[in-house]
Amino acid sequence: MELPGQRLLDFSSIEEIKVPPVVSLVLPCYNEQEVLPETTRRLLALLREWIDSGQMAQGSGIYYVDDGSRDNTWPMIVSYAAEHKEVSGIKLSRNRGHQNALLCGLMTAPGDVLVSLDADLQDDLEAIPKMVKAYCTGSEVVFAVRSKRSTDTWFKRVSAEGYYKLLAFLGVQIVFNHADYRLLSRRAVETLRSYEETHLFLRGIVMQLGFQTSVVEFERAERFAGESKYPLRKMLALAWQGVTSFTAYPLRMITGAGMLVSFGSMLLAAWALFLRLFTEQALPGWASVVLPMYFLGGVQLLSLGVIGEYLAKVYEASKKRPRFHVDRVVGAGFRRKLDR
Ligand code: UDP
Ligand code: MG
Repeated sequence: MELPGQRLLDFSSIEEIKVPPVVSLVLPCYNEQEVLPETTRRLLALLREWIDSGQMAQGSGIYYVDDGSRDNTWPMIVSYAAEHKEVSGIKLSRNRGHQNALLCGLMTAPGDVLVSLDADLQDDLEAIPKMVKAYCTGSEVVFAVRSKRSTDTWFKRVSAEGYYKLLAFLGVQIVFNHADYRLLSRRAVETLRSYEETHLFLRGIVMQLGFQTSVVEFERAERFAGESKYPLRKMLALAWQGVTSFTAYPLRMITGAGMLVSFGSMLLAAWALFLRLFTEQALPGWASVVLPMYFLGGVQLLSLGVIGEYLAKVYEASKKRPRFHVDRVVGAGFRRKLDR
């Protein structure tokens, strides 16, 4: 999708970075003990390389957000933080879901630039320096977009692409094939802070921020270890969140359906009247009465359901409950922030 201010960058034309930014990598983790050792090893090696080569400033670091894991994730984060000055951790008081965990990381981690990515190494890490380059040439928001979906199952590919198309059809502005792998500048993050929605769909909200944005392409790998923490149930919930948070189109569709059915029933009435007045034919009996009854009953229940969904969101949003509670933080990243 073409968006104002968005362009695919040609990296050959970009000059060397003059003042490297402090980059914070934000990774939400939910029961990720299988992947954390490898993720930490690879990220640390790359981060040090990027700092040494002057692409990022000293003080750049990794921020794990433990989303109320029940396995060894938090003790592991604590030990990495003790061992490496680049690693810090934030522990949520309970599992709040990926979007809230990610938001917590973005709101809590220091740095000039925040890059959000998954803990399972599915996102190609080589896209990070490219995103930082895009930042250095003026972009406040950089989306990493999957160039293809060859590592996905058939079902995931079809459902995901269908979903992006549905959102576009409903008028929700979103970057095609972009999940939550993105760079936000400090300015973009502080703007994001002012959005107080209870129901978070970050990839939609960042589109509302504006600013200069750009896109970097990458190829997504398979999950390095462990199982997906996004079962179908959570995926559907997030998909529904995306629709209901950004458009009232389903409500309008109900109005449309209501108008259509009413118009149809008027036509039917006219037809029945015509038969009665001008012909000898008897009206068809049972089917013509019972079937529309069931059909209309179904449509009405469905419509009530959709209206109810929106009402429920208003109800939840009106309570203004906090989206997460931070239980603990560890690591040099936070000490540095407090010293400043
Ligand atoms: N995640 C989280 N809280 C949750 C579920 C997932 O923080 O309740 C994290 C998870 O640890 C991972 C990221 O969100 O870093 C994406 O999850 P996953 O890789 O399981 O999703 P998939 O790639 O299968 O869509
Ligand atoms: Mg994954």
